[in-house]
Amino acid sequence: MPTHGMPRRSTATCRSAVTRRSVLAAGAATAATATALTNAPAALAAAPTLPNGTSKDKVLVVGMDGLRHDRIDAADAPHLRSMMANGTYGTSLLYSGPMAATSSGPGWSTIATGVWPDKHGVRDNTFIGKNYGRYPGFLARLAQVRPELSTYAAVDWKPLDSQGTVTAGADAKLVLDGDADGYPGHDATIANETESILRHQNPDVLFVYFGNTDVVAHGSGTGRRYLDAIAVQDAHLGRLLAAIRSRPTYPAERWTVIVATDHGHVDAGGHGGSSIEERRTFILAQGPGIAAGARPIDTRLVDVAATVFEQLGITPDPAWGLDGKPVQERTDDPFDTLRPSLTGRVDETGIPASVLGFTHTAPGGWSVINNAMGTGGVGEWRGWSFATDEFWSRTHRDQWRELNVRSRGVFAVADSDEWDDKANSGGYDSTLVTPAYDVSGRSSVRLDFTTHYRQEGGQTARILASFNGGTPAVVRSYTSDVVSQPQSVSVPVPAGASSVSFRFRYTGANNWYWVIDGVRVTASCLGWRAPVHRRGGAPSAHRTSHYAYGRSPLHGRAQADRILAHRHGRCPHP
Ligand SMILES: [Zn+2]
Ligand SMILES: [Zn+2]
Repeated sequence: MPTHGMPRRSTATCRSAVTRRSVLAAGAATAATATALTNAPAALAAAPTLPNGTSKDKVLVVGMDGLRHDRIDAADAPHLRSMMANGTYGTSLLYSGPMAATSSGPGWSTIATGVWPDKHGVRDNTFIGKNYGRYPGFLARLAQVRPELSTYAAVDWKPLDSQGTVTAGADAKLVLDGDADGYPGHDATIANETESILRHQNPDVLFVYFGNTDVVAHGSGTGRRYLDAIAVQDAHLGRLLAAIRSRPTYPAERWTVIVATDHGHVDAGGHGGSSIEERRTFILAQGPGIAAGARPIDTRLVDVAATVFEQLGITPDPAWGLDGKPVQERTDDPFDTLRPSLTGRVDETGIPASVLGFTHTAPGGWSVINNAMGTGGVGEWRGWSFATDEFWSRTHRDQWRELNVRSRGVFAVADSDEWDDKANSGGYDSTLVTPAYDVSGRSSVRLDFTTHYRQEGGQTARILASFNGGTPAVVRSYTSDVVSQPQSVSVPVPAGASSVSFRFRYTGANNWYWVIDGVRVTASCLGWRAPVHRRGGAPSAHRTSHYAYGRSPLHGRAQADRILAHRHGRCPHP
């Protein structure tokens, strides 16, 4: 890709990325300068000339560093609020160590690449271990797959350029050094230049970054000055939105705007650790096909990149390994149907009473067998429970519960460690049972799910399959840690079997835990697949057709025979 705009106005001073926190106190000293620059005319920024855009589908991603979403309501932020009313607003929690710190390097890497730190490799602000070659930022990916798109990036935290996180692949970029020169002025310059480009040029995809919210929180916490900083950034956002609407070609364009943050802050200012306040993130997206006023519980920070691709009509190659999904796509996971029945704490003490995040009520068709469970213990965790990330991970920090990144919304959890925190007798022994799925005429059945498992001592975690209600047989056992990974178990269907149900049996005694989410069961015939159940949703003719036949290598008569065989509920002849 030609680079039409080179890095400009960067100072020669090259501060190490890891010193960011130490320079943040400078924020107060630059405030006066900032005010002046904020009011400077747009002419201040002489925008680079981008290649002329080629797409009617256009995306603006606005990154706001260290923006605690629970403080937006208290701020003068009409544009963020307007986007919440007209778009989809999903809040979620981040990982923490040892997967990655709740700091800017991992956060922006997660946003840009659409994968979690165990893939992109950035665990702190040293960026040591980064793997952008395999997992590039979305602008770099677009440069590979849609080089005709006109793209622009602007950042004033320099590592987002020098490390290759955000600006890589952009046709033009503005790189400023907020650590050296102060963020308020540079944020304003980014707003000016981006506004100019939106008004006078034809960009397709833009990724701009504002840093001052983070600086102010470090300097003075999340109080009045922080709210003022949010208001300034909201005004920047408003100017960009107005510039988009003012485009002469706006009626013929389909714009998506996404706002996201890389981490939260403790009330007193600061982040990197595992507190809920530091782990808070959000995605706010408005655009075609994105529901207005939606507050889904199943979005996560990796969804920004997936949403960018979706809005541009790009289907990610599975080889990209994305962890995200578009914000408009809901999981139809059976556990997520429990959201209305979630309740507050019972025996737990560290979870605010206002957090409604657990239930023992299983989804329809599912059940929990607790007749081998001991008595007593912490009520929330007596046997398999269904819980949210915030509720479960608040029970105890820094025991890897924060690493459950590939669960979404409500998940199933068996936690002998937390259960044991109150007087009890007997051990932990609980079994989660799926509904029965139709496998008539099928030769194989596959169970897909995500798991987060931490091993200790004599703890056991086994998956069993029962055909036609017969004796369950073990099909998988876990004996070592599995840190939030997708899993797939395929089991042959015995001749004549018409149904299968799976069981997740966990036993322990003050050991760790086992999390299950995203359960899907798919039955298939030799060489092709026909689902009887997908992500817990009802079988759908459309999906069945798509899955069963869309991937079949067969054509013509052979294909027709197989469709017929499928309709008759038996495997076709090979
Ligand atoms: Zn940050
Ligand atoms: Zn920070």
